[in-house]
Amino acid sequence: MLPTSHPDNSSLRPDEALLRRGVRPTALRVLIYRTMENAPCALSLTDLEDRLVTVDKSTIFRTLTLFLGHHLVHAVDDGTGQTKYALCAADCHCGEEGDEEWDDLHTHFFCERCHHTYCLRGVPIPTVALPAGFRLHSATYVLKGLCPACAARARSSAVSEIPES
Ligand SMILES: [Zn+2]
Ligand SMILES: [Zn+2]
Ligand SMILES: [Zn+2]
Repeated sequence: MLPTSHPDNSSLRPDEALLRRGVRPTALRVLIYRTMENAPCALSLTDLEDRLVTVDKSTIFRTLTLFLGHHLVHAVDDGTGQTKYALCAADCHCGEEGDEEWDDLHTHFFCERCHHTYCLRGVPIPTVALPAGFRLHSATYVLKGLCPACAARARSSAVSEIPES
C-alpha cells in the first residue's frame, strides 16, 4: 500500500465515522471533520480557524478536543511549536490502554518549503529497543525535507537555472 496523507475512511461517511467513535454527528462536527478530511495535510488550530471563518473559535477548539478524546484525530508535534491535527484511520486505536495504542503510530513528514505536515500512513515508525525498565508511552517521528509538489518545483527551477550555452 502506498503511503498517503489520508486515512482509509473513504467507505465511511463523516457522520458514520463520528458515530463509530461515539461522537454525536452534529452539523458543525461533521463540517469540521469534513474540513480535516479535505485537507491535504495536518492542520493547526489556526489553519482550521482560517478555513472555518464562520465558526466560533472556541467551538473549533472544543470540537477538536472532543475529537482527540474519541480518537477521531491525532495530534502531531512536528517540531514547529504549533501542534497539528489529522484524522485517524477508521480502525486506529491510538490513545487506548494496552498494546493497541501502537496501531496508528505512523511517520510524519514536514516539508521545509511549504511547511505542510503529512501523515505517511503505511510507514510505521521504527521500533526502538529500549533498555530494561523503560516503559514507552508515545513517540514522535518526523522526517523533514520536500513534499512531492515542492520537490518537483525545486527540480523544474533547477532546470531553468541552467545557463544556455
Ligand atoms: Zn489515531
Ligand atoms: Zn511542500
Ligand atoms: Zn498522522
